[in-house]
Amino acid sequence: MKSADLVRVPEATYGHGLLRDLGDVLPDATLVTMAAPYEQVRHDLPAAPAHVHFVETMEQEALDRVCEGLPVTPVVVGLGGGLACDMAKYVAWKFRRRLVLVPTVVSGNAFVTRAAAVRVGRRVRYVGEAFPERLLIDFDLIGAAPAYLNRSGVGDLLSIHTALWDWRFAREHYGEEYHDGLARQAAAILDRVETDAPDLHDVTETGIRTLVEGFREEVRLCEVWTSSRPEEGSEHYLAYCLEALTGRPYLHGALVTLMTLITCRFQDQDWSRPFSIAERVAVPFRPAALGLSREDLARTLQDIHAFVHAERLPPGVFHRSPLSRAEVTRAVDWAFNL
Ligand SMILES: [Zn+2]
Repeated sequence: MKSADLVRVPEATYGHGLLRDLGDVLPDATLVTMAAPYEQVRHDLPAAPAHVHFVETMEQEALDRVCEGLPVTPVVVGLGGGLACDMAKYVAWKFRRRLVLVPTVVSGNAFVTRAAAVRVGRRVRYVGEAFPERLLIDFDLIGAAPAYLNRSGVGDLLSIHTALWDWRFAREHYGEEYHDGLARQAAAILDRVETDAPDLHDVTETGIRTLVEGFREEVRLCEVWTSSRPEEGSEHYLAYCLEALTGRPYLHGALVTLMTLITCRFQDQDWSRPFSIAERVAVPFRPAALGLSREDLARTLQDIHAFVHAERLPPGVFHRSPLSRAEVTRAVDWAFNL
């Protein structure tokens, strides 16, 4: 455990028209973005970037080749969703450049975590360490993104519900160290989310702040504890297992929301609280909305026990024993009737 004074989490600047503040850095910057967010902002940029790079992949092999081809600029500006922020962090870390992040959607916590999510084959690996000198949260930019994407961000906070159960389970069955104070602070993030659910649904300024500050707080707790225990557990393991099986991406926050509900059942926890929050926020978490088939969910549940051991993931509910055929069928039926 680190002393809380030693842990730094990017400070967010909130406001309107924040792109105007980038006039001094853009001429020296590689702007890492994607077509849609770039189209949205290009006429509002106060200066032309030295170079614009459109992210296509975070696959490790291709990534390093792409990075070698980028021009040398002192600053990297990541503008867009999780992919653009991850790529910008990766480039800033690899070539020791200054980093500015401008998320245009708050569907996940990539803009506050240090490491970049890189794909190696069908697996996600967290690589590097980068810290933005500026993190701009522009209410107009984020408000212009599709509401369902912003609403999905709540999934990476709902995960606290099942992650904390796993942590207590690991204490009881594996003698893992547990910290009551940090667990209570993580649980408080969920309380805030529950109170602000109407604002999260409407993507108001309050809703955007609640998400961003919730991400900052959970990342701070994870850094203090030097592991993801306060935020990530079996619900994320199910998401990783599914992605490894199918090799296709899903809307992360929405998928984690569904997996949180399913994990609750195996933990014998009450699932009604995360369910009602997800419903009030209108997270598109149902299998049909995610494009998730019965077969793929069933295969994920059948494989999860072997997967968590093979991947050496920190102990959680699926470490106990393989799920029986009947348990899998019941859980799939339940998920498809939500
Ligand atoms: Zn996540």
